[in-house]
Amino acid sequence: MIQELGNGGHFAWVKLVFADLSGTARAVQIPEAAFERAMSEGVRVDGSALEGRNRMIETDLVLRPDPTTLLPSGDHAGRVICDLFDDEGRPWPLDPRHALRQMVASTAVVSADWMGAAELEWYLLRPDLSPVDGDGYFSYTRGEGERLLERTALKLGALGLSVTAAHHEAGPGQYEVNLKAATPMLLADSLMTARTVVADMAHEEGLIATFMARPLNDLPGSGMHVHQILAGSNPSEVEHVERVVAGVLDHAGALCAFSAPTINSYRRLHRGAEAPSHATWAHSSRSALVRLSLTDGDHISVEYRGSDSSANPYLVLAALLAAGETGVIGEAKLPAPLEESVEGVGLAQVETAPTQLPRSLEQATIQLLGDDRLIDCFDDRLIARYSEDLMAEVEASQGYVSDWEQRRYLGNF
Ligand code: GLN
Ligand code: MG
Ligand code: MG
Ligand code: MG
Repeated sequence: MIQELGNGGHFAWVKLVFADLSGTARAVQIPEAAFERAMSEGVRVDGSALEGRNRMIETDLVLRPDPTTLLPSGDHAGRVICDLFDDEGRPWPLDPRHALRQMVASTAVVSADWMGAAELEWYLLRPDLSPVDGDGYFSYTRGEGERLLERTALKLGALGLSVTAAHHEAGPGQYEVNLKAATPMLLADSLMTARTVVADMAHEEGLIATFMARPLNDLPGSGMHVHQILAGSNPSEVEHVERVVAGVLDHAGALCAFSAPTINSYRRLHRGAEAPSHATWAHSSRSALVRLSLTDGDHISVEYRGSDSSANPYLVLAALLAAGETGVIGEAKLPAPLEESVEGVGLAQVETAPTQLPRSLEQATIQLLGDDRLIDCFDDRLIARYSEDLMAEVEASQGYVSDWEQRRYLGNF
């Protein structure tokens, strides 16, 4: 199998990559000679990393490489993404890939022909955290950042990812790549891979690539928009799409626990800068949570703009499938679109005032735990551990005094 990569037939090492509960890539390197055995028997690792950011529980896990994800990586190395099992051979319930695979199987109505594309944004910063350039949206200059973006897009292509576009985003030093429509697992794997490649290539240049939701004050955040590409050429297909969208809006609060999973995520969802603050949909407004557009004559793109680049792509896609499925099964009704920005309209004028998205990670987690229909679609153990991790993050931030508070209060009280 390794020889099929045409990479001179040899890897010195193979990198076994897996996702932890926060969606961060983790890796173990094994010598090429051990790869065949890893394929047949798996590789035993200490599972504590998989508990997410805040938990340390000693559990032995077994990594099993997914051969469909094997890629050349660097001159003498391969890279393969792994699934996680416990030491009795059962799928590990906190493995995000397992969660997504299970969700695809249990949401047969929406998953049948589901294809999704994504846009991934990040900032390139210098070590002092200043943006690498002062450019803006679709900038054409040939600065350090743009040249690195070109090389990064080439590298992603060489790794087998289908990048359909790459460009400078609105913020100084902010960049974006777009990934071609794919199945849920391929899209999530590609997003995880893209984040590691972007970060590695920046690091090689002495720069920092950050996927933090809103790294800098007064500048836009970094979104990870997900486009569900759904058939929409006849009235029954259009009705299906409307129910999917209605499901996403109905579960918008709980979805934020997956799509906006850090304390910082709510600085991005705060207001303006083309990030949503309310559960609305629109054809053109960039402040809507969901934007619908025709992709070709036959398909409708349901663009979910709630997720930021720090989210776990496996869990975001799983949660979107779950929300869409509940919308379809419950025959959810789509409210009227809101084309104006919510701030511009004034909420009193909106006929049925749209629901505000959670304003904090704590609110999002509480909304997740209160959304029985959505969480019933997931394994209880994943929801329990995931929400504990989020609440631990809330607790950690609660005791921290920010610069803003010091500036605001120190001299006044
Ligand atoms: N940066 C915006 C966000 O956080 C998106 C801007 C855009 O893609 N036009 O979602
Ligand atoms: Mg874009
Ligand atoms: Mg963008
Ligand atoms: Mg977009």
